[in-house]
Amino acid sequence: MTRDSATRDLLNGLPEFEPGWVWLVGAGPGDPGLLTLHGVNALRQADAIVYDALVDQRILDHAPDTAELIYAGKRGGKPSPTQRSISLRLIELARAGKRVLRLKGGDPFVFGRGGEEALELTGAGIPFRVVPGVTAGIGGLAYAGIPATHRDTNSSVTFITGHSVTGEVPDNLNWNALATGAPVIVLYMAVKHMPRIAQRLIDGGRDPQEAVAFVSNAATEKMTVVECTLAEAGSVAASVEPPAVIAIGPVVKLRSALDWVGRMEGRVLDPNPFGQADRDVAS
Ligand code: SAH
Repeated sequence: MTRDSATRDLLNGLPEFEPGWVWLVGAGPGDPGLLTLHGVNALRQADAIVYDALVDQRILDHAPDTAELIYAGKRGGKPSPTQRSISLRLIELARAGKRVLRLKGGDPFVFGRGGEEALELTGAGIPFRVVPGVTAGIGGLAYAGIPATHRDTNSSVTFITGHSVTGEVPDNLNWNALATGAPVIVLYMAVKHMPRIAQRLIDGGRDPQEAVAFVSNAATEKMTVVECTLAEAGSVAASVEPPAVIAIGPVVKLRSALDWVGRMEGRVLDPNPFGQADRDVAS
């Protein structure tokens, strides 16, 4: 079997998109190469595609010319007044016998309201499939050379949204427990509220010198990464362009050794990201 035909077979073996179904598909954080084969398979068969703001045009290009493209982007992390209308649109399209693709940035079930939309579909008796995607808080950080976990530094990672349903810093979280008990924190939708979030963590006992990275437009040509300390993070946030994921914790230090995108652009990597102490332990 040639490599081309193996790729074709891989796609051919994927499920048929039946009329009247909704598929909730994750598009990944940016780079079109991070779309899954299930995602490509869905795009190729869709009649209607309801897509979000953070989805790259090159991903939509997989769709047939005849597919109806419906933009359902939201603005500024505000609680969306249109969420219900998006769900109703999905239901209406499915009832009209379309193959409906709901295309979302990252993973549909990670801070993406995919769960809410799927619940509405269940309520309406519409069959659906979920196609997971690469989430920004893992894949986006990887493009910045930051692993979400690393054996020597953290055996857990905590994902937090910086916006609650009301658009405020979530107050249903135990910030003191997170400050001392979550070695690596990855924040979504948190640029605006970063001054208050950083302060809550410091008040809760987090080291103000803890390393922080803002990764904006991760996995796109526009990616920018700013590193600072937790004490600085509140003021640094003012100059960060959303969308951004924010990593807090020792894994940020690994970036000096693992920034593979920067290396392609000429950055010299440091094999000892944790400095002299590390070398002493190793020798
Ligand atoms: N379902 C998505 C998250 C949606 S919430 C996922 O799994 O990734 C929107 C937030 O995701 C943004 O505010 C930002 O925090 C993050 N995000 C999405 N795409 C991003 C990107 N390319 N770069 C940095 N952050 C991104």
